[in-house]
Amino acid sequence: MVKPGESELDGLLGDVRVDEKNAPAFLFHGKEADIWDDPYRAYHGKTASDYLRERILELHKKGEDPFPGVVGKSQEKAMVKNALLSGSAILFKGRKGYGKTTFSKEVSKLLPEKLLAVQGCKIYDDPTHPSCFSCKRKVLQDEKVEVTWVPRVWMRIPGDPQLTTRQLLGGISIQKIREGFDLDHPEVFIPGRALKANRGIGYYDELGAIPSSLQTLLHELFEEGQVTTTEGDVIPFRIDAIEIAATNPANYRGTNPIKEPLLDRMEEVEIGPPETLEQEMEIGRRNMYLARVRGEDPRMPPWHMEILAGAVRLARDKEESELARVIDSEPSCRATIKLYDHVKSQAQLQGREAPSLADYGERYEVIQLALRGRLEVGYGTREPKERIIEKLVEKAIETACRKYYEKVPEDKFEKFMAEVRSLAKDGALRLTPETAARMKAKPLLGALLKEMAGKQEEFYASAAEILFEAVARCSHHLERHDGGYRLTPNGNGEGRPVEEA
Ligand SMILES: [Zn+2]
Repeated sequence: MVKPGESELDGLLGDVRVDEKNAPAFLFHGKEADIWDDPYRAYHGKTASDYLRERILELHKKGEDPFPGVVGKSQEKAMVKNALLSGSAILFKGRKGYGKTTFSKEVSKLLPEKLLAVQGCKIYDDPTHPSCFSCKRKVLQDEKVEVTWVPRVWMRIPGDPQLTTRQLLGGISIQKIREGFDLDHPEVFIPGRALKANRGIGYYDELGAIPSSLQTLLHELFEEGQVTTTEGDVIPFRIDAIEIAATNPANYRGTNPIKEPLLDRMEEVEIGPPETLEQEMEIGRRNMYLARVRGEDPRMPPWHMEILAGAVRLARDKEESELARVIDSEPSCRATIKLYDHVKSQAQLQGREAPSLADYGERYEVIQLALRGRLEVGYGTREPKERIIEKLVEKAIETACRKYYEKVPEDKFEKFMAEVRSLAKDGALRLTPETAARMKAKPLLGALLKEMAGKQEEFYASAAEILFEAVARCSHHLERHDGGYRLTPNGNGEGRPVEEA
């Protein structure tokens, strides 16, 4: 014979779904609301996966990028789109600092900004399709159920070797039991992070660091949205979440830290460094402190962005750069971002918007600050790390200068130098806003500066510095002197000397 209590429990363990016909009255701020009408109807009744699918297909039709916050990475985006459309969990594989977290947040932005949920539910239950005991009971038995807006969910589940079942999945509140609640009372169960990802994204940051016993519990969660504990109990929640995990293979030697059956339940997408210098510059610019935290245009001249991102990329490119071959652990995009931040701050300390080469530090101390902790040189490398960093910057300045030197047409070089000479005072060229204004008035130099700086008035002196530095390095008509430049005997003299190889 079935006891009444048991059949009731059976109802709560099963799938509970209500529609317009059999639902209780839903209240919003105490007032009855028809949740099948505007402004509520778009925000319930669908799974996270439904929302993602719809949004991806809609953007696809319009030819729009579903992940505009991720710079470049068109291949990876295509794969993520594909995996999401087929409702699969995703594993981002790659070193730190290449945007795995950013990518997972971009996926969450495809979900509605808000959802309608049962008020007070710890896992933001859908009023028409609740998961937890408490909400199922309310929807089935109560006459009135209060609903509310909740923000979109992106729940980080940190890969911590100390992570407990309780933190991951949830546990029983002893406190509530002491207060007199029955063991099967819904409020006695406190959901862990994996369950709190309900209706949104569960982001498993460093999945491999989660203890293997807990990884085993995730198989079922990733596949079916529910968990059976090792004791054989089914946690009475079937959650609806998009599972995205990340792993950094560089953290592990030898065996794969993610167990085979779990790997088998995810689509793997590799996330590497930005493919091009331009993409690296864009990532750096967007993530600068001023842009990210203050929401301002960080106003960084492209030549400095080129040099600084260039130095970081030289440290990575083992095929092209000798320096990269002595570097064991390569700097990520965070190095680029921090270089931009530090150089910009240095300029602002000097009362300028646009940085100057002097802001790199006399011995590139400012560069060292951003790079020292972010790259490691190989064991047995004779040169100290600081020297390697100096060489990286030197090489990057050299490369950028060659490019800007090319901007002075060879047949007009003499005319260019004549303009430069006319600006010099006792052979010296200062890089002040006043001199910059005079430079702008020169037909050739002015046109070049305009091409480089565009409408950004405060970039002109900085642009002139790079042009002069380029002339100094490539043709030796100028040399650096006292924060500015001065004409060399070559610069006053006749003809253009042979370029350095
Ligand atoms: Zn609930």
